[in-house]
Amino acid sequence: MQSPDVVLNIQNMSVVYETTRGPLTALSKLDLQVRKGEFVAVLGPSGCGKSTLLKVVSGLLGIAEGEVTVSGQKIVGPRKDVGIVFQQPTLLPWKTVRENVLVPIRAQRLPKAQYEAEADRLLNLVGLGNFGGYLPHELSGGMQQRAGIARGLIHDPAVLLMDEPFAALDALTRERMTDELQSIWMETKKTVVFITHSIQEAVYLADKVVVLSGRPGTKVLELDVNLERPRTLDTMASPRFSEVANRLREMFGAGKRNL
Ligand code: ADP
Ligand code: MG
Repeated sequence: MQSPDVVLNIQNMSVVYETTRGPLTALSKLDLQVRKGEFVAVLGPSGCGKSTLLKVVSGLLGIAEGEVTVSGQKIVGPRKDVGIVFQQPTLLPWKTVRENVLVPIRAQRLPKAQYEAEADRLLNLVGLGNFGGYLPHELSGGMQQRAGIARGLIHDPAVLLMDEPFAALDALTRERMTDELQSIWMETKKTVVFITHSIQEAVYLADKVVVLSGRPGTKVLELDVNLERPRTLDTMASPRFSEVANRLREMFGAGKRNL
């Protein structure tokens, strides 16, 4: 019997793409459970199926085998109760930042007037309170990515999916955004699946880290982080942080053939 607080439940899932060279298995027999309010980081080498996983959960891609449910419902098409933040901010250049945040509301034909105040609240939350009226190109890369986070949260999704959201940012901005994401998550208590290439980022942010093997991706390790919040620079210097990070690093090193 599944625990009632599991929001995302993936069981024995395989995903196969039909390519011009024949079928290509991207994910194989993957199991993953994410509980309500949990922050799960997924680490894995390039091409192992991380973005594919998020496409399935958002209902954009079907599966070949297994079962996936969000809030107990099987995924059969694009889902409205899922939010996504992409690696690139993908904001509409002709719309203001505030209008961009409201895009999912228009797309889902929800009553926009009822979400105006929420857009302002989220813009404040992500530190863009004074920038709602600007166009995307008038913002820095980090600011655009924050607008992307506000857009991902506007319809109060049951799960927020983040696909390497800081990968395109410079190192300093990336560190600051990691801290900000932790604050946002502590405030919103969202259920998050966060894809990253960075072991440090995964350990800093997540309650649980899942490591995928190289393609076809499958789970090779699941590790509870068990570090108090809020995590700070001191946390990064703690023995537990090193222990978890080293365990993950070993997994990448030792499993080179598989990763
Ligand atoms: P990751 O995000 O981990 O880098 P992806 O999920 O984007 O990996 O891709 C996983 C694998 O699936 C890749 O090896 C790629 O070759 C294949 N793939 C991804 N998208 C498609 C597609 N639209 N059609 C066919 N194959 C794809
Ligand atoms: Mg990807």
